[in-house]
Amino acid sequence: MVMGDIATATDLLVIGAGPGGYVAAIRGAQLGLDTTLVEKDAYGGACLNRGCIPSKAFIHGADVAHEAGNAEEMGIHADPAIDMLQMQEWKSDVVDQLTSGVEKLCKANGVSLLEGAAAFEDEHTARIAHGGEGQGMETVEFEHAVIATGSRPIQIPGFDFADDPVLSSSQLLRMESVPDRLVVVGAGYIGMELSTMLTKLGTEVTVVEMLDDVLPAYEADVKRIVRKRAEELGIDFHFGEGATGWEETADGVLVSTETEAGDVSQYEGDAVLVAVGRQPVTDTMELDAIGLEPNDAGFIETDDRARTDVENVFAVGDVAGEPMLAHKASAEGIVAAEVAAGEPAALDQQAIPAAVFTDPEIATVGLTEDDAADAGFDPVVGEMPLRASGRALSMGESDGFVRIVADEASEIVLGGQIVGPNASEIVAEVALAVEMSATLEDVAGTVHTHPTLAEAVMEAAENAQGQAIHTLNR
Ligand code: FAD
Repeated sequence: MVMGDIATATDLLVIGAGPGGYVAAIRGAQLGLDTTLVEKDAYGGACLNRGCIPSKAFIHGADVAHEAGNAEEMGIHADPAIDMLQMQEWKSDVVDQLTSGVEKLCKANGVSLLEGAAAFEDEHTARIAHGGEGQGMETVEFEHAVIATGSRPIQIPGFDFADDPVLSSSQLLRMESVPDRLVVVGAGYIGMELSTMLTKLGTEVTVVEMLDDVLPAYEADVKRIVRKRAEELGIDFHFGEGATGWEETADGVLVSTETEAGDVSQYEGDAVLVAVGRQPVTDTMELDAIGLEPNDAGFIETDDRARTDVENVFAVGDVAGEPMLAHKASAEGIVAAEVAAGEPAALDQQAIPAAVFTDPEIATVGLTEDDAADAGFDPVVGEMPLRASGRALSMGESDGFVRIVADEASEIVLGGQIVGPNASEIVAEVALAVEMSATLEDVAGTVHTHPTLAEAVMEAAENAQGQAIHTLNR
C-alpha cells in the first residue's frame, strides 16, 4: 500500500455501474453481502448515459415529429419545427432522473459507492484511483469481485473519434443541431436506429455498409421490411463498400469507400458517424494482476454462473460477450451476485430477447425456424401478418408480422420473430413462453385484449396449430 492510502474491506466489489454492475451490487446488498460499487464516470453506464435511453428518447422525439408531419391521410396537417437544444434538454432530464435513481437505489439498499477507476492488485485486492488532481488512492480488499466494465465504440483505421467531423454514437447523441447531411458507416442496429431517427428529423442520410444488407443478425424477411421502409424514408444505402478515409471540404466532409473489386466512391456529409460495433473494455483494470486474459474476440469468458477462470471473480454484461444488451447485462449481474452469496443461480441464454428500434421495430427471442431445425427439432411455424390486425391498421402501421416457432411434437414454444410497431414490447410475451416452456395451446388459449398488437401473438400460435381465425391457416 502507498503511504496515505485508505484501506477498506468488502464482501463484494463491483467494478462499473452500468446495468450489469449496479444491478449486481443491489442484488448483492439485498442478499446481505457487504457490497461496494466503483464507477469511474457516470452511474448507469453506457445504457443510461450514451446508449439505450438517450437513443430511445431521440427516436421517440423523431417519431412524434415525423408522425405529426405525415398524417394528412388522417386529416392532420402539421409542419413541426425541431428545436434540437430543447430536445437535448428534455433527453438530459430523462437521463438525469434515471441516473440519480440508480445512485439513490444503491444507497437505499446499503451499497457503498466509490467514485474512481478500479484496477486489480491481486485476486483479493483492488486499487481505486479517485478522479481529479490530489484525490488520492484507496485500496479495497474483497472476497468476490464482479467485472462490469462494459464496452466502447470500435474505431476503424482512418476514422479517429478525436477528429471533429468523425462521430461515435455517444458524440452524435450530444448533437446540438440536426445535421443537414450525415454519412453513416455501418448498417448494424446502432447505425440503423440512428439513421432512421435522423432521417425523420430531416437529415439527408447516406449509409455505407461493407456487407450486402442491413442488420446481419436477422432473417431476410425480417430485415427486408425495415430496409424497404428506411429507403422510403429517404436513406440512401450503399452496400458492399468499406469506408477507407475522409477529407475535410469547404462545407463538411467527403467520405471515401471502396468495394472488394476496388471501385472507389465518395459521399458528402456535414459529418460522418462511425457505427461499426462495440468492443469490450478490458484494459482499465489490470487483468494480468489476477492472471485473467480476454479471449481472441476480446471478451472475458464466463460460465453460465458468470464465473471467470479466477474462482472469486465474475464478469457480466458487454465485457463478458454477446449479446451486448442491457437486459442481458442485468440478468448476468443478478446471477453473479446470487452465486457470490452462495445461491444456486445460473443464466439460461435461451430466452434473452433482442430488439432493434427501427421503423418498424424488430424483436426476436429464442430460436428461428432454421435454428430449431439445426438443433434437431421438427419445427412448426405460425404467423400473423399485421395487415390483418385491427390495431395495426388503426395505427396506420400494418407492415410486419408476428411469427412463433414451436416444436411440432410437443408444441413447446421455441422462439419468435416480430417486425412491427411496439415489437420490443410484444416480444415479452413470447420470451415468457420460451422461458416457461409454454405450449402453443397455452399462448393460443390465453384471452388477449382487443384491439391490441399482442393479439397477433395469440393468432400466430393458433396459426401454428392450424386454427387461426383471422388469417388463412398454412
Ligand atoms: P456499461 O453500460 O458500458 O457500463 C460499464 C461502466 O463501467 C461504465 O459506466 C464505465 O465508466 C465503468 N468502468 C469501466 N472501467 C472501469 C474501471 N476500471 N473502474 C470503474 N469503472 C469502470 N442495449 C439494449 O439492451 N437496448 C437498447 O436499446 C440499446 N441501445 C443502445 C444504443 C446505443 C447508441 C448504444 C451505444 C448501446 C445500446 N445498447 C442497448 C447497449 C447497452 O448500452 C449495453 O449493452 C449496456 O450498457 C451494457 O451494460 P454493462 O453494464 O455491461 O456496461
